[in-house]
Amino acid sequence: MAGKKVLIIYAHPEPGSFNAALKNVAVDELSKQGCVVTVTDLYAANFEPRTTRKDIAGALCDPEHFNYGVAAHHAYKDGRLSCDIVAEQQKVCEADLLLFQFPMYWYSMPAIMKGWMDRIFCQGFAFDFPGFFDDGLLKGKRAILSLTTGGTAEMFSSTGVNGDIRRFLWPIQHGTLHFCGCQILAPQVSFAPDTSSQEERTKMVEAWTQRLATIWQEEPIVCEAPWYFGQ
Ligand SMILES: Cc1cc2nc3c(=O)[nH]c(=O)nc-3n(C[C@H](O)[C@H](O)[C@H](O)COP(=O)(O)OP(=O)(O)OC[C@H]3O[C@@H](n4cnc5c(N)ncnc54)[C@H](O)[C@@H]3O)c2cc1C
Repeated sequence: MAGKKVLIIYAHPEPGSFNAALKNVAVDELSKQGCVVTVTDLYAANFEPRTTRKDIAGALCDPEHFNYGVAAHHAYKDGRLSCDIVAEQQKVCEADLLLFQFPMYWYSMPAIMKGWMDRIFCQGFAFDFPGFFDDGLLKGKRAILSLTTGGTAEMFSSTGVNGDIRRFLWPIQHGTLHFCGCQILAPQVSFAPDTSSQEERTKMVEAWTQRLATIWQEEPIVCEAPWYFGQ
């Protein structure tokens, strides 16, 4: 799939981490295919995750009451969002595939990645009313989560202590990425790398590399409640 553009949004502070290894093989494999790969390394960039007044240049539409969503929507339309947001939105615009690489934090993603979504996916850019879910403004793009966990596959099974891993992905895959119009590819979950053997970890890295080799042929999931919670 030469020429396809991939944006990897990566959230781990340690270059020697398992997450870094998964990110690195994704860069290598997709580049080998002729894809144009861009990485947003959130920790390395010291990415600002907070939604603040500083994101908007010039006067607020309502100086009496700062409503971030409304203000960011107006600023997007007027071209008054901060440079770091504009730069990330440009990368998102160009991408065919958004790949999120992160460790699970508290059944979710690290705050720095949540902050990226909060600030980059503003109204007018990623969604609008109308213009959400299947009509979201990022329609035509695909998104995939590649995450690692502390818990084992058994702990994240339907009979395990946590329950099925899929239920935790509803807010990210459905509530955010699908809301913004993306089609969602099945997640890549690498369970418990920190308590696995070196051999098991190597297999997980290989499995990800192999999957990436045919990633463009995959059909998206049906991103609706039954996929997450059963019938
Ligand atoms: C704030 C916080 C909240 C958390 N909440 C949850 C939660 O809700 N649920 C949950 O399940 N877990 C949770 N965790 C645990 C977390 O998800 C895991 O610790 C994390 O996913 C492990 O991934 P890592 O990349 O950090 O592993 P690392 O510790 O970086 O790596 C694991 C091992 O892999 C080795 N490695 C690196 N590269 C390679 C390679 N190429 N091949 C083979 N091995 C390699 C490393 O040397 C290391 O020994 C939480 C952790 C934190 C800090």
